[in-house]
Amino acid sequence: MKRLLPLLLVLAGCQAAPKPPPNILLIFTDDHASSAISAYGSTFNTTPNIDRIAAEGMLFENCLVTNSICAPSRATILTGKYNHLNGQIINGPAFDGSQQTFPKLLQQAGYTTAMIGKWHLRSAPTGFDHYEVLVGQGPYYNPPIRTATDTTIVEGYTTDILTDMALNWLDEGRDGEKPFMLMYQHKAPHRNWQPGPDHIDDFVDQEFDMPATFYDDYATRSSAAGQAVMRIDDHLNANDLKITPPRNLTEAQMERWMESYGPRNEELRESGLSGDDLDQWKYNRYMRDYLRSVQSVDDNIGRVLDYLDETGLAENTVVVYSSDQGWYLGEHGWYDKRWMYEPSLKTPFIVRWPESVDAGVKNETMVSNVDFAPTFLDIAGAAIPADMQGKSLIPVLEGGTDLTFRDAFYYQYYEYPGAHCVRRHYGVRTDRYKLIYFYGIDEWEMFDLQEDPDEVRSVYGSADYADIEAGLKVRLTELREEYEVPEDTRPIPEEVCTYTVGWMGYDAG
Ligand code: CA
Repeated sequence: MKRLLPLLLVLAGCQAAPKPPPNILLIFTDDHASSAISAYGSTFNTTPNIDRIAAEGMLFENCLVTNSICAPSRATILTGKYNHLNGQIINGPAFDGSQQTFPKLLQQAGYTTAMIGKWHLRSAPTGFDHYEVLVGQGPYYNPPIRTATDTTIVEGYTTDILTDMALNWLDEGRDGEKPFMLMYQHKAPHRNWQPGPDHIDDFVDQEFDMPATFYDDYATRSSAAGQAVMRIDDHLNANDLKITPPRNLTEAQMERWMESYGPRNEELRESGLSGDDLDQWKYNRYMRDYLRSVQSVDDNIGRVLDYLDETGLAENTVVVYSSDQGWYLGEHGWYDKRWMYEPSLKTPFIVRWPESVDAGVKNETMVSNVDFAPTFLDIAGAAIPADMQGKSLIPVLEGGTDLTFRDAFYYQYYEYPGAHCVRRHYGVRTDRYKLIYFYGIDEWEMFDLQEDPDEVRSVYGSADYADIEAGLKVRLTELREEYEVPEDTRPIPEEVCTYTVGWMGYDAG
């Protein structure tokens, strides 16, 4: 009896005070390259607050998106399904909000839910007790904010405003009797990378080295890469480069803007730069503005983390940092995303969960944004519907690196014709190899990521890789069957991608 007593006391204690399910905070950005986060080894900038999440949690080196573009990524996260099943294969159409999503299921499981920030799915958010969202892409300054009842313009810098709203909901808006799930989603650092007032002069004296592949001529691959329209040297426009000031600023905002950019534009006009020098100037201008937008995000994440600490919420809140996809900071000469190549296939993904995740762990397991919804449900103790295609990451989060979690990953990009002229493609990636099929033009690429991490030399058709190529094709077919991917039979018009606007002009982007 004596030996049983402590056990009985423990059992009694458990029954008396069941721990409430964890809160879930998804901090989400748009187009944030891992290479611009110091926890991922950025050589450009430091992000102390995102790094805090990593230092106290688990950082994933291989979080892959199912489709590297904004709305489809968001739809995958909400549904735990690939885009052919949730309907959002491209950016344009409205998301079908009547379908099953993880926020709806969390509501049913007793959570209070909110969506604050960039939604980008056209239809009204569903599954949320509260929402305040940007309209469409939303501007960097003075954004119209849409709620369930109206749309109002709020004056200020969008990254700061969205954080105020998130903190306000956490503090006063939510039902404190329930666990919460908050999606706190920034527009930044999406194009055209407008800095906030606190960071408008950052990096002004810093020169950035172009990546080794900046002048990639795409000669050793399929014809797809050479057809794209997203080169920093050729395709950034005056709006991107801030040669002309943004629209709809208040007088004070405009004054601040002109103080910073006016003299620099004058310098450019007088410099007569051309050729490689002009490319370098554009690259620096691009990098500085992109990174400035990131720094405001990082500051604001710090405000939210501080709030969680100060209120004691941090202990029982799972904090996730991620972005809708990766991004090019000059690799292959590019800005933008869309490709199955590594910089846009990979997205940042960091999870802090004090109770279950060891601090400061880096994990190379191949995980995906299709896993987010089942993971959130699992964290909440809710059932994961059988039709979700991702898997709960809890075993990976609790057990550390588990390279058997997923042996191969399926990817598909559909938006051609479309902005930036990236051909439709699907493919399979394993820990070492990647096979891509550009099905509209019937061309293949294959990369050995160990020998060629920059993906500039396709080994498709090479005798040395014949067995591996055959194996990847089998796995690709299996994955398409497993995920029930239909043939993409939408017609592809000829000559739909042209780009005639010079770098001093505007385009629709
Ligand atoms: Ca995006």
